[in-house]
Amino acid sequence: MKKITTYSTIALTALLLVSGCSKTVHTEEEEAHHHAKHWGYTGDVAPSHWSELNKKFNMCSEGKQQSPINVVATKDVELPALDLNYTTGSETIIDNGHTVQINIADGSVLNIDGAKYKLKQFHFHTPSENNINGKKFPLEAHFVHATDDGKLAVVAVMFKEGAENPVLAKIWKKFPTLKEKEGTAVKCGLTSDEVKALMPTNKDYYKFTGSLTTPPCSEQVKWHVYKTPLTVSKEQAEKFTALFGHPNNRPIQDTNKRVIEE
Ligand SMILES: [Zn+2]
Repeated sequence: MKKITTYSTIALTALLLVSGCSKTVHTEEEEAHHHAKHWGYTGDVAPSHWSELNKKFNMCSEGKQQSPINVVATKDVELPALDLNYTTGSETIIDNGHTVQINIADGSVLNIDGAKYKLKQFHFHTPSENNINGKKFPLEAHFVHATDDGKLAVVAVMFKEGAENPVLAKIWKKFPTLKEKEGTAVKCGLTSDEVKALMPTNKDYYKFTGSLTTPPCSEQVKWHVYKTPLTVSKEQAEKFTALFGHPNNRPIQDTNKRVIEE
């Protein structure tokens, strides 16, 4: 999962730079940008080092409800269907150096216990971050939602190897442009129906509390992982990994006896 504010500031910084603002002015956005670039998935900025890179990342090592996890249900509770009301399409797509993120136009909502979580963006990890009953998948999508006061909810979708996914194909077509203009947003052109098609028709899911899977690893994130995977072709999964040159999944974290409902 990604830190929304950081990425919107990256986009803002990119816009400022494009519009001719001087690089030598150290704005807060540039600081955020600098820090956001200062963690990764390999070498001395790999996940095991995240908490050493910035004091603000301390939860990455000290947290007790971290994500991702191996999802194994501990409690059968007849969960209600997710109250998703996606009515808007994509705004922009960005390669932020950690993942490919599709920003969603305002108006799509996930209602949880009377609170309105707005769909902000979705992005991908190869291979999957969460496992389901010990099984890892070639690709996982995270749909990131936030309330106006900053509470977070993620809906995760797994992709197993199989037929090419047509919506992913449309997104993947943008990869060459993203490489050319790394860090800047380009139009993506997905409709709300295409966004909804990235979720399975079988709506059974697991529910648990976790964290952002990227620094600052903040907790109290409401996780919902669909049980039924969609398909991604081998070529599509490989093309995503090739974009970054390495996997972008944080290792599995301890559940610390967390309740996982199904
Ligand atoms: Zn994610």
